[in-house]
Amino acid sequence: MGWGEYLSRAISPTNKRKVTMLIQNECCNFISGDCIAADVQCPQIKRLKPANEKPEKFALICGWFVNSVLPLDKDLWTGLIDPQNLAKCKQCGTKFAGGSNSAKYCASCASRERKKQQREFAQKKRFTASTNRG
Ligand SMILES: [Zn+2]
Repeated sequence: MGWGEYLSRAISPTNKRKVTMLIQNECCNFISGDCIAADVQCPQIKRLKPANEKPEKFALICGWFVNSVLPLDKDLWTGLIDPQNLAKCKQCGTKFAGGSNSAKYCASCASRERKKQQREFAQKKRFTASTNRG
C-alpha cells in the first residue's frame, strides 16, 4: 500500500496521544520506534511529533495504520476519519479509507484480488502459448 494523505483534519492533543499509543500497542510493524515494514522511524508517529505544526496540517499518512490498526479503536476512527474520504469496497462493501480515487477494494480484498489477477494472467499466458503452437 502506498503512502498518501488520508485526511488533513484537525486533531486534539488527546487524540494525538491515542494515535501514538495505538501504534505502540497494536501495530505489528512497530518495533521500538521503527517501522519494520518501511525500515525507517515510524513515519506516522514522526508526523505527529512537531508541536509547532498547525493542527489542521495533521495527516494520517500510513495506509497500514489507517486500514488495519485504527479500526481497532472505533471512537478514534470516527474522530479522525472524514466520512467523505471513505470508499466502499467493491467486493465486500466494507467502508475503508481509500487514500486515492483508484482504490476499489479494502485491504483484505485488495490482496485477494491481486492474487486472483496474477493467477488469471498466468492461465491466459498458458492458453495463448498452447493455441499459438500449431
Ligand atoms: Zn473488501
